Amino acid sequence: MTALILDGKALARDMEQTLSPRVGAIKVHAHGKTPVLATILVGDDPASATYVQMKGNACKRVGMDSIRVQMPANTTTIQILAKIRELNEDSNVHGILLQHPVPRGIDERACFDAIDARKDVDGVTCLGFGRMGMGESAYGSCTPAGIMSLLKFHEIPIAGKHAVVVGRSAILGKPMALMLLNHNATVTICHSKTENLESFVKQADILIGAVGRPELIKSAWIKPGAVVIDAGYHPGGIGDIEKAGLPEIASAYTPVPGGVGPMTIATLIRQTVESAEAHLNTK
Ligand code: NAP
Repeated sequence: MTALILDGKALARDMEQTLSPRVGAIKVHAHGKTPVLATILVGDDPASATYVQMKGNACKRVGMDSIRVQMPANTTTIQILAKIRELNEDSNVHGILLQHPVPRGIDERACFDAIDARKDVDGVTCLGFGRMGMGESAYGSCTPAGIMSLLKFHEIPIAGKHAVVVGRSAILGKPMALMLLNHNATVTICHSKTENLESFVKQADILIGAVGRPELIKSAWIKPGAVVIDAGYHPGGIGDIEKAGLPEIASAYTPVPGGVGPMTIATLIRQTVESAEAHLNTK
């Protein structure tokens, strides 16, 4: 049996195509106003700068505007909080994204939580996380929400399956686990203190690699027929899960690159459009 490739690049492109007319409709109904995403980049980390650039480009592709706020690495938490407050109050801004990670010494959690929940299109606030966890309406953290869209599009059964999430970060592993739980998976979360990681990976019907360590998860550990999602991205197109052997073992898997990454960006853009529709009352 050939494994199904969960092509995030193709699905993200389709999502963008459905978003462009929604942006057009907002412009018509809101007298020329357009959805606006504000991105805040603190410091000069090249990878973060590339991600922010990619998000700005995606805004352009669907006809939205973006505002780019660049702050030096020595910016203080107080200065970032002031900028976020300003963007919260700006009625022309519909979504705010603080690029993660921020430089050491900045209280990232305080900055995330200062974002008005109605503009938290990246799904990073405690309030949004709590609401999502409770099954209430909230913008989901973009990477796990993008993964859920990919699973849904490909009609991957989740209810009753054993999902193993390797990683428990606030933006990825934890919200991923809750989203899968909300879809009735039986969920195991593994992390750096987990003993015998292999034994848990071996049980996964759905495996999510979100560790940030190149090919830490070995293909030999994977249960035959498992659905394998690799959120990791490292130089050279390496993920968190070993590539060799994967197509022969998995029933479906995300390519790296072209799997999870494009879905993260498409989800951010979709959530910004939804926020603009809500703000401008055009829906
Ligand atoms: P992170 O904040 O560094 O978290 C990594 C998690 O992995 C932590 O929970 C850590 O456990 C766990 N971990 C580390 N070493 C481990 C080990 N040996 N065994 C088991 N668990 C281990 O990273 P993140 O932000 O969640 O990102 C994870 C990966 O996803 C990275 O490769 C990142 O590049 C990628 N990512 C991709 C996108 C996208 O759009 N494609 C977006 C975000 C992230 P502890 O909690 O115990 O430290």
